[in-house]
Amino acid sequence: MKSFEWASPSSVGEAVSLLKSAPVPKDVDDSARPIAGGQDLLTTMKDYITRPARVVNLKGIRGLDRIEGDGKKGLRIGALVTLAQLEENAEVRRSFPALAEAAHSVATPQIRNLGTVGGNLCQRPRCWYYRLEEAVCLKKGGSECFAAKGENKYNAILGGGPSYIVHPSDLAPVLVALGASATVVGADGKRTVPLEKFFTLPSVGNIRRENVLANDEIITEIQVPPSAFAARSTYLKFKERDSLDFALASAAVAVELGANKTVRQARIVLGGVAPIPWRAPKAESYLAGKTLSADALAEAARRALEGAEPLAKNAYKIPLTQALVRRALAKAGGMSV
Ligand SMILES: Cc1cc2nc3c(=O)[nH]c(=O)nc-3n(C[C@H](O)[C@H](O)[C@H](O)COP(=O)(O)OP(=O)(O)OC[C@H]3O[C@@H](n4cnc5c(N)ncnc54)[C@H](O)[C@@H]3O)c2cc1C
Repeated sequence: MKSFEWASPSSVGEAVSLLKSAPVPKDVDDSARPIAGGQDLLTTMKDYITRPARVVNLKGIRGLDRIEGDGKKGLRIGALVTLAQLEENAEVRRSFPALAEAAHSVATPQIRNLGTVGGNLCQRPRCWYYRLEEAVCLKKGGSECFAAKGENKYNAILGGGPSYIVHPSDLAPVLVALGASATVVGADGKRTVPLEKFFTLPSVGNIRRENVLANDEIITEIQVPPSAFAARSTYLKFKERDSLDFALASAAVAVELGANKTVRQARIVLGGVAPIPWRAPKAESYLAGKTLSADALAEAARRALEGAEPLAKNAYKIPLTQALVRRALAKAGGMSV
């Protein structure tokens, strides 16, 4: 690990000015970084994937570790809330069940006790080429995505190119499905970013980054609005191993039902298959006004994966994700599967 300066601010303002005032590095991955639970940042630093000259510890900032609100008012989740707090919170479990399920699905109890909501959303990709120090891929300033023609079993089938990473966060698809926004604070002020616009495709944003944050910006809070569908939400994740693992594919689903199980509105966001949480608007609009049935679920699942372009070794993700969408819709809609 490269040596670094450790800074411990006690306010958000101090934290962002410490990020802003750090020496401008030659490479973006040498820039100063905020640290929360350290469950991802320290790993990337040990492998020289990130090499910040200054690390700004957010844990000393008071007031960012609270969950406030309820199903009627919506939730305000501080960026330093841990995944364990989120999965155990009674109001989250009752009114935003998909969020509790997604938090519970992450890693191990030890990691969930330390990992935070802000850190989970801003964690770096898990592509093994990206994580291998010697492989200088597109994401690390190189000229090639080695997964495109290499070992791409775990990579993107939607929205890929020129890099084929998948976004690793389990919270992200759920928060996008629930219409959540992030409060982002930088040295120049505060802004609110809908999470649907927070994550960036490699073909659109800065290929060295996965979101819209500037180097001196941090997330301070996530707001989840009250909605008619949050209480009927669920998160299904398929892992290669039963123990800790990232999603090969996942589906975050929320539905509002009317009489006779007619869908008033649906939200479907896929995880593990694209460089960003992948919303499926064609499947959502197809379901509106339909009565939930096995056929409707199958058609919605088919539409959710429309446009998928698998690489040589990951076509299996299409039927896998379709099955997750069907099952998640059935579970959220109270159908037996
Ligand atoms: C073995 C293992 C298994 C895992 N399995 C899963 C899994 O199944 N699903 C899943 O979703 N995740 C998984 N993770 C990732 C883990 O959930 C995240 O690493 C963790 O949540 C990150 O939170 P943290 O607070 O420790 O972040 P840190 O490591 O402190 O930071 C991570 C990144 O976010 C940035 N950051 C942190 N806080 C903020 C903020 N408030 N604003 C802006 N930037 C910020 C940091 O600069 C850094 O780039 C796994 C990790 C490990 C080690």
